[in-house]
Amino acid sequence: MLSISGMHCATCAQKIEKVLAATKGILSTAVNFSTERAVISYDEHIIEEKKIFKIIEKLSYTAEKTITENEKQIERKKMIRYWLKKLIIIALLTIIILFGPFLLSYLQGFPEILHDTLLFILTTLVLYIGGFLLLRNAFDSFRRLRSSPDLLPGIGITILYIYSFILTLFPNFTPDVSRALLYGALSVITVILVTLKWISLRFEEKINESFENLLNLEPKKARVVRHGTEMEVDIKKVKIGDIVKVKSGEAIPVDGIIIEGNSLINEMIVAGNGNSVEKNRGDEVITATINLKDTLIIKTTQVGENSTLSQIISLLKDRKKYISKKQKASKTMSTVGTILTLIIAGGVSIGWGILGAPVFIIVLTATSILIIANPEAFTKAVQIPMSLGIEKSASRGILFRGGKIIEIAGKLKHIVFDKTGTVTRGIPEITNIITKEAFNEKRFLILVGSLENASTHPFAETIVEYCKLKNITFKKAYNTKHIEGLGLIGTVDGQEIIAGNLKLMGKSNVQMNEELLHKAEILSKNVRTPVFVARNRELIGIVGIADTIKEHAKEAIPRLQKKGYQLALVTGDNQKIAENIANEIRIKNVISDLLQREKIEVIQGFQEKNEVTAFVGDGINDAPVLGQADIGMAIGAGTDISLELSDLTFISDDLRLIDKALSDSLLVLMLSKQNFIIVFLYHIIVFPLAAGIFYPSTNLLLHPVIAPFFMGALLITINLNSLKLKKIL
Ligand code: ADP
Ligand code: MG
Repeated sequence: MLSISGMHCATCAQKIEKVLAATKGILSTAVNFSTERAVISYDEHIIEEKKIFKIIEKLSYTAEKTITENEKQIERKKMIRYWLKKLIIIALLTIIILFGPFLLSYLQGFPEILHDTLLFILTTLVLYIGGFLLLRNAFDSFRRLRSSPDLLPGIGITILYIYSFILTLFPNFTPDVSRALLYGALSVITVILVTLKWISLRFEEKINESFENLLNLEPKKARVVRHGTEMEVDIKKVKIGDIVKVKSGEAIPVDGIIIEGNSLINEMIVAGNGNSVEKNRGDEVITATINLKDTLIIKTTQVGENSTLSQIISLLKDRKKYISKKQKASKTMSTVGTILTLIIAGGVSIGWGILGAPVFIIVLTATSILIIANPEAFTKAVQIPMSLGIEKSASRGILFRGGKIIEIAGKLKHIVFDKTGTVTRGIPEITNIITKEAFNEKRFLILVGSLENASTHPFAETIVEYCKLKNITFKKAYNTKHIEGLGLIGTVDGQEIIAGNLKLMGKSNVQMNEELLHKAEILSKNVRTPVFVARNRELIGIVGIADTIKEHAKEAIPRLQKKGYQLALVTGDNQKIAENIANEIRIKNVISDLLQREKIEVIQGFQEKNEVTAFVGDGINDAPVLGQADIGMAIGAGTDISLELSDLTFISDDLRLIDKALSDSLLVLMLSKQNFIIVFLYHIIVFPLAAGIFYPSTNLLLHPVIAPFFMGALLITINLNSLKLKKIL
């Protein structure tokens, strides 16, 4: 498997496929343009992997072997050790070089001419050991015309090295500089650059920690009970429906439903807090949450790639597709900055040349500029806080689809809430059964229950549950038709049954009944939704349903309003209920009796005024509305998580997380802005210094040996500044 970059359209992918297919030794190729991936199978005896890379590169695309996150982690660990080893060796050599002239002066009989040669050889050794990879990276990015963190310092060192080589051969080339000092400087610069490499990798490790922790949460084994015996099974072999036993203190290896036992579960990765929740028979549990108390027997509902945890992880891997404009802009800044630095370094050298400055000034200023500049920091300034924000949130059950969403969240103005299942619990209860006089309640329930049995609407499920409790036996319903936002029509026992809201009754020309209508009014006043039921177009009764407001809604929603967001509540339910609920959560803008299409129109209305709008839904039956919003938020996704539908997903159904996600976004944006300004100011200050602006008046020149210290200070500053997020979020 390879990843290929540089493809602009599907034709590019086809081109690569065609060329590869015509190559001897390649058995099959499948290049996917949108994922930038290619799966190629080939005969190792005929063609080498390297050759395939070459072919793709010849077509002017770049191919890289895709490596998994685990491999990346291992690779990074290896690199950290690699650089540390180099660092120790070259630091020792550098000490020798620095004290070299002093030591050599004690060596009687050692010809003085060879002093410099010896030091030069040692310096070459330092450069070879410490700088080899750095220079190779620099050369590589130069050849591909891509900016990389190693490019500029690489060029700087090279110039300095060539200069010291010339001086060693022709000591009288320029009299103004101590050669010994130059060797020392070159070695020290290399040591510092290698140190920075090492520090960068350590920071990278810290930055990726949350993500890697998530990866490490992926279960490897499960204790499955099959035919009465328990056995440890590799997680890949666990199937949906398998019965899994989880002891106290263990992580739950699958998504599933508790079928036996009750316990406390720590849901850190779901709810963002360390609180444990009590779970009983019938409750859902999620992969990687921790069973704290008693043994649980769980029936598996999702495993492997479809488990909640795997979905979170693959979302994190895919987030590069949704990068923000700022991330893109900062990348461009880095490239432009690199080019500018090269131009400035060249310009300054020419400038000094024209002014008739000695060669060493030209060399020192040019290398100082090249080493002190750090245009790559622009990319990092924005990238690091975004990554940290997304990863840290993800490990708390708040899933941003990418940096783009964080950026849009920063401009958010309207938040539109769906009612059922979002503001309310979506687990309604039956409060009243009202039938037309003389209509037998049991008979009524058989008719409604049989019809609703064909629907998955929360109301339908509640009615069916209720009937089951009353030992009603259902009949078969025919021709059932679900009418979105209104209700359900079908035939039971040869009679046409309609169940739904008042609008549906009106639309279907149902003959109404004054007394029942009056009772329905009273229900609505008491925040009960009346479901009207008609038989053969005649109203026969009402089911009163109450859906209670979610636990934290009354706290979470007014808080969002205080923060200045404009809130609205939309629902397909009737006006009375909607207003009642809206009152309790203090939303003034309520729009009721809406069909899904009309909910979309409400959002479009805000968007037409160019105001950024979010929609909060349960992510189950409101996908089109989520799609229309600038930020589609799905709350309470639980194990039904479906990350493609929404931009921001909350695994738990705690509405307070919306505020958390939004304020976290603002924090991330603020920090990346801060970082960006720091990097910008740094360059404005540092360029003139390195260019030797003070030289004519004070004779002071920023020696290249100081440059990497400056550069390191910048690197450490933006990393530390970004890492603040980790503590705050
Ligand atoms: P919301 O917009 O609050 O999510 P829906 O669009 O799901 O609500 O449903 C709107 C209204 O349609 C409900 O309040 C209910 O009156 C009616 N309805 C929808 N489906 C059914 C059903 N299966 N049985 C009875 N009534 C239904
Ligand atoms: Mg709904």
